Amino acid sequence: MTMKKSFILQLLMVSLLFCIPSAVAQYNIIPQPNSIKAGEGYYQLSKAADIQFSDITNKSRRRLTDYLIGAGFSIGTGKTAVSKIRLEVGQQSQFPESDEGYRLVVNPSEINISARSETGLFYGIQTLLQLITADRTVPSVTVSDFPRFPYRGVHIDVSRHFYSIDFVKKHLDMMAHLKINRFHWHITDGPGWRLEIKKYPLLTQVAAWRTHQSWKDWWATNPRKYTDIRSGEKAYGGFYTQKEAREIVQYAAERHITVIPEIEMPGHSEEVLAVYPQLACTGKPYTQSEFCIGNEQTFTFLENVLKEVMAIFPSEYIHIGGDEADKSHWKQCPKCQARMKKEGLKDENELQSYLIKRIEKFLQKHNRKLLGWDEILEGGLAPEATVMSWRGEGGGIAAAKSGHDAIMTPGEFMYFDSYQANPDSQPEAMGGFLPLEKVYSYNPVPKDLTADETRHILGVQSNLWTEYIGSEQHADYMLYPRVLALSEVAWTNSGNKDWYDFKRRANQKIPFLQSKGINTFTLSDEVAFAHAVDTLQKAVLVVLSTEKYGVEIRYTTNGTVPNSSSALYEKPILVNDSAKIVAQLFDGKKMIGKPVSQRFDYHLGIGKKMIYNIPMNKYYPAAGEKSLIDGQTGGLSHGDGRWQGFMTGGMDVTIDMGRKTSLKYITARFMQSPGPWIYFPKEVVVSVSDDNKTFTELTRVLTPYDTKTPGTVFHHFGWSGSTNARYIRYQALPNGIKGGWVFLDEIVVW
Ligand SMILES: [Zn+2]
Repeated sequence: MTMKKSFILQLLMVSLLFCIPSAVAQYNIIPQPNSIKAGEGYYQLSKAADIQFSDITNKSRRRLTDYLIGAGFSIGTGKTAVSKIRLEVGQQSQFPESDEGYRLVVNPSEINISARSETGLFYGIQTLLQLITADRTVPSVTVSDFPRFPYRGVHIDVSRHFYSIDFVKKHLDMMAHLKINRFHWHITDGPGWRLEIKKYPLLTQVAAWRTHQSWKDWWATNPRKYTDIRSGEKAYGGFYTQKEAREIVQYAAERHITVIPEIEMPGHSEEVLAVYPQLACTGKPYTQSEFCIGNEQTFTFLENVLKEVMAIFPSEYIHIGGDEADKSHWKQCPKCQARMKKEGLKDENELQSYLIKRIEKFLQKHNRKLLGWDEILEGGLAPEATVMSWRGEGGGIAAAKSGHDAIMTPGEFMYFDSYQANPDSQPEAMGGFLPLEKVYSYNPVPKDLTADETRHILGVQSNLWTEYIGSEQHADYMLYPRVLALSEVAWTNSGNKDWYDFKRRANQKIPFLQSKGINTFTLSDEVAFAHAVDTLQKAVLVVLSTEKYGVEIRYTTNGTVPNSSSALYEKPILVNDSAKIVAQLFDGKKMIGKPVSQRFDYHLGIGKKMIYNIPMNKYYPAAGEKSLIDGQTGGLSHGDGRWQGFMTGGMDVTIDMGRKTSLKYITARFMQSPGPWIYFPKEVVVSVSDDNKTFTELTRVLTPYDTKTPGTVFHHFGWSGSTNARYIRYQALPNGIKGGWVFLDEIVVW
């Protein structure tokens, strides 16, 4: 079966599922338990229960009882008790064979939760609380459950923007509710150092404070400066005292969450070098972001910092960053070069690896393990290191194949700084497009691993980088509801996942999130389009979908805004030539959100020969040479495999229509998204020829947008008129921004 065919089938499957109601009893638990069976009747919360504990510490007894009382359970003693809640830790054979697993049995007179550890018991309670109905009952059920992955993480960057202790606690509460057990706290980076280190006070007196509140404004300055907070000058920033960090560690531990601190090295450290410039190769502040690896003082500093960090954070893992180091300064530095010579290191990759390996040894001496971003593979991986795979899955695969553990955090699925709905309707984001369904679709185990290698995939994590996220409310909004999807990716076995049922539960969870003070995104109220091209039928197959649950999609194909009696969407729409489809959500007769329209073309260029006068960039080939004329229009993310990328020189292609053809319309759609350095072309030229030698220019169009336009925007550049020709040449001249990209899809010819 060809890719195209299977994609069409997939779309059809999706659209069929859209209409099928679930026959299974509907619970609202996230993440979905791996086994749940309905029983008869229900338990009433108002009935006073006698709580019985077995093998549980006093501290835990108090905490678990508090959870139950907080959720509305009546607790009685002796004679007043008419029902029973039994919480038991032990090794009985009927308990799930996982320290985080639990068994929960509810019947009208009794609730039993049993587990091998207090963590399992805690998760049993979380499931129980999510079973409580609006009329204060719990349906009779038997749940037997344990996680798919031992590592289930959420990362938050507090360097680019600083968030309060209360914000962190609020999110730890919600993570516990969702059975997420790792909080990766990104506490150091160029935009601000965020943890008190007693031996190096300048880190929090100066390196924690910058001149501009907005990261974007600060980033645009040169050099990017820090402010001595003692000077009384206006500054933006903040830090956590060691006491506060310990409080967070404790708060998390009570919720069975481990806090993993990240201390960046050797790159992303310009804030440290601004206040301790002797640790830079140049010896001067504001000259580089990387520590000098040739200088012993660097190791003294890092080890002293890590000693204080380890005293605060009991986590087995310490994250040392390791990403995006610019190695050019080490090439120029006599100390770094001397180190390379002395240690027999053949290049700067090996020099970076030298630092990582040396730090690993130091951590091991203190019974800790090193965790780093996938760049730590460059120059040779430290012997016991664990890799966090962010530049796709390649780093995780390479680590697993070489016998190292890995955690999957690929940008395309797990970077929650991407847009989660149409950029038109959203606050400015980094770029990309990562809606809830795409997060949910992620499988952290890559296909090309053997069963033995798969064991090394410890789990999965979402990352929230905060360049564009200047407030706690905005951070809430980017995290939720996507963290709901992450929790199910991490906990629930693939066979028990179901997007349509999850969508129902996620929609139902939104009022709960809001009641906990989380400013969640409430899911898109716009219809989403997907399509496939069927070259046999010579048609475009258009699929409409929505993230909302229990609503209808109505549409028109003539460009008019749908009303409540327009066609109801039930199956994919077949477009034989060209149609402007306008779709709108309805709740009964009531319109929800705005109408969305998209034009679909089975146009003249589809399947014709394409000549590249300038090669496409090898990193963004889309589907190769026919991508720009395959009828598949690029979506909202430049990385979706449909957009083709070009760098210096821009793009220049010739389409051979095969014979002289009557032409009325030649246009292409471009993207501009400053986060990933994608800009509209400065100018587009469309010309035609009969011999592919002498071309007649049809039009020359200048970009109507400034390169500083915020957010992701789309624009069509092209020509309309009337001519006859065999060859069409389409050129897009680059914008002149160094390192900037040109991205387009698709060229439409009529
Ligand atoms: Zn150096």
